[in-house]
Amino acid sequence: KPQHRYIGRFAPSPTGPLHAGSLVAALASWLDARALKGRWLVRMEDVDSPRCVEGADLIIMRQLAQCGLLPDEPPVYQSRRSALYVRKLGQLHSQGWVYPCGCSRKAIAAALEAQGRVAARHTELAYPGTCRHGVHGKPATATRVRTTVSVSSDEPVTIQWNDRRLGAQQQDLTLDVGDFVLKRADGLFTYQMAVVVDDAEQAITHIVRGEDLADNTPRQIHLQRVFGFATPKYLHTPLVLGENGEKLSKQNGAAALELDDPLPALRAAAQTLGLQFDTPADTTLGDWLRSATQAWAKQWHDHRP
Ligand code: GLU
Repeated sequence: KPQHRYIGRFAPSPTGPLHAGSLVAALASWLDARALKGRWLVRMEDVDSPRCVEGADLIIMRQLAQCGLLPDEPPVYQSRRSALYVRKLGQLHSQGWVYPCGCSRKAIAAALEAQGRVAARHTELAYPGTCRHGVHGKPATATRVRTTVSVSSDEPVTIQWNDRRLGAQQQDLTLDVGDFVLKRADGLFTYQMAVVVDDAEQAITHIVRGEDLADNTPRQIHLQRVFGFATPKYLHTPLVLGENGEKLSKQNGAAALELDDPLPALRAAAQTLGLQFDTPADTTLGDWLRSATQAWAKQWHDHRP
């Protein structure tokens, strides 16, 4: 494979059409790739197949094309890449980085309570490592990766990273998240597993995505280190908020974008990104994208990424 200085990607889950929020991530990742004369790829993250909607991938690709956001290669589909995930998980198995777990949510909550720790910062429970040294007769369901400094130590890990927009970030991964799931009880690989393997396999150098995903980044960096992959640069973009003040999502009624005339939606996305530039009201899509790319370059690359 040829080495590229910049390979970026947009990685939508095809659970529905693009909305105002996901367009921000699409536009930002495209602008960053264009501003740095890099390549831009699209990856359909349909690994969680029960959540995906038939045909949503084609709608997303058409919406991107209507906005002039054309990938440099045909999109790849996670649903067709399980052989790769099986192979990579097998590698971690033979190295001792992963283990089977038989804990239910109830068992995890009880174990946390017994340790005097309050459960759940979000909906997810931090995993206290109950099965790290054996399932003790329970039937194993999920596969978890150790969040330890090395495979032969139980020392907890803290992950520090630098986001191009959010600045210095830190998470006590072991305490806040714990050993996390790479393969679920229903046999599906998780987002964390698929995204890390795919970003490395596609040689992604720069990840630009919504800020709602920022708290996944320490897990992904840990997994990159476990695999021996390089860590890409990260930029997490501002979120579009719905009427209830929460992140705009399909779940809180984000409207699918009607993109026969893409400029109003693109202008709104550029405003969310804080891009300042003027274009005539009757500008063409091509001219608008060129101006937006220049504005992005000025905002993010005058201070180098
Ligand atoms: N597929 C994820 C989502 O749509 C994004 C993954 C990523 O950009 O890392 O929320």
